Amino acid sequence: MTDSLAPPQPTAHGTPLLANYIDGAWRAADAQDTLEDRNPATGEVVALVPLSGGADVDAAVGAARRALGAWRQTSPLKRARALFALRDALEAHRDELAALVTRDMGKTLADAHAEVGRGIESVEAASAMPHLLKGESLAEVAQGLDVQMIRQPVGVVAAITPFNFPAMIPLWFLPYAIGAGNTFVLKPSEQDPLTSQRLMELIDAIEQIPPGVVNLVHGAHEAVDALLDHPGVDAISFVGSARTARYVHARGAQQGKRVQALGGAKNSIVVMPDADRRLMVEGVLGSAFGAAGQRCLAGSVAVLVGTPAQQDELRDAIVAGARRLRTGDGADPGTDVCPVVTVAQRERLELEIERAVREGAQILLDGRVGGGSAGAELAPTILHCAPEDSRVLREELFGPILALTRVADLDAAIRWANRSPYGNAAMIFTASGAAARRFRLDVEAGMVGVNVGVAAPIAWFPFAGWKASMEGDLHANGRDAIEFYTRRKVVTSRWG
Ligand code: NAD
Repeated sequence: MTDSLAPPQPTAHGTPLLANYIDGAWRAADAQDTLEDRNPATGEVVALVPLSGGADVDAAVGAARRALGAWRQTSPLKRARALFALRDALEAHRDELAALVTRDMGKTLADAHAEVGRGIESVEAASAMPHLLKGESLAEVAQGLDVQMIRQPVGVVAAITPFNFPAMIPLWFLPYAIGAGNTFVLKPSEQDPLTSQRLMELIDAIEQIPPGVVNLVHGAHEAVDALLDHPGVDAISFVGSARTARYVHARGAQQGKRVQALGGAKNSIVVMPDADRRLMVEGVLGSAFGAAGQRCLAGSVAVLVGTPAQQDELRDAIVAGARRLRTGDGADPGTDVCPVVTVAQRERLELEIERAVREGAQILLDGRVGGGSAGAELAPTILHCAPEDSRVLREELFGPILALTRVADLDAAIRWANRSPYGNAAMIFTASGAAARRFRLDVEAGMVGVNVGVAAPIAWFPFAGWKASMEGDLHANGRDAIEFYTRRKVVTSRWG
């Protein structure tokens, strides 16, 4: 399309200064302030992120609005073919994108590869757009009278995304939104926007996606507020912490926008005494410590069920497994647990550990290693907790900290999980079909894992958080995405 300003631009010091992507061209942000984006494993500054403000957002929204008229009239087949091209581009650059995720966010290469794969899945699911957009009709509701329901795009969609899945989460929204005929503005996390930048370069080279259909604005809170308040934005897709989700939902809705805001979580893993030990230990450790616990589906509380002797045995198996995990640079293939996203985050997590101890927790495994080489490492930490409502048991900490608690039976475990204000996911490890069934039916969470540690749905299903983990009614992905990105129109006609 255009090769205006080559992205990204190195500064005098050699660090790339990121540019916004607006109307098919790379544009320096109006805003002068920048933020340093660092590789959490090495501390290297990988980019300077412009903190775009109202003028930058206005330019991006303006471009998206101008592109809307022609794009919404492009046939769903052609839009689907544009998604095929995007899918192919992502697949061709899969290794490169995964390496970028690791460099910018920190997660292991294997995890980053899986993340990019999940993003590609969303594009594949949205490629069925002509089918997904089909409406309904009923003939002869009265003599000569037919009723038809058609779907039309909502308009300009803005997506605001978190740091922990810099490739997958923008791709939860982008393909469904543009496939349904909307135009799109992405405001990625200011903590690791390199993958989004690369994504725009790939999109720029796809002829079937005209200028203005997809735009990128870098920045933080000011850019978000400008999107929430902009009259040219019709719908907001948000993912981030519960607190920000509530804020974005309230402010966006007040401005008359359609809003889906997926928030934070505190997910329980119920461990029954009959669970297959190998499957259980692998599942619990992968869930609690994968991506250093920085996943909204992380199981950060293990609820050990059984007699005290059985609970002790489950505890010992988990702690012994965690001792074997290696913490380090995500780019090193021997690493199991990556650094957290920033040094400040690691310092905050260590304060949380101290607080948990003050509140009565006992440290079974202490991961405080002084931050490692670049200051952002925290090794797996396991706490055994006494008071049921202590912060470490009830609030999302978003780090490699697993809290253990004990209950006598499955009923008590389900009651325990259901007292959480959050409802993103819940997992159970058991050999009993009856226990699994009870759990599946009675637990109050939108995503349930049975002998699965990370209950992430594939893209053809909604990402279905409940309670404080979700503001709004329609989730990301699956049929919910079609409902969210379209407006229904019901036409009643008489021709006879
Ligand atoms: P965050 O809420 O700090 O930031 C998310 C986005 O909101 C970013 O783009 C950021 O710039 C913006 N933002 C943050 N605070 C803001 C404010 N006060 N005003 C305006 N904009 C603001 O979240 P994060 O730390 O980047 O991501 C981690 C969180 O996301 C965790 O809580 C995690 O559970 C959650 N998450 C949820 C899901 C889900 O599907 N439910 C998926 C991934 C992550």
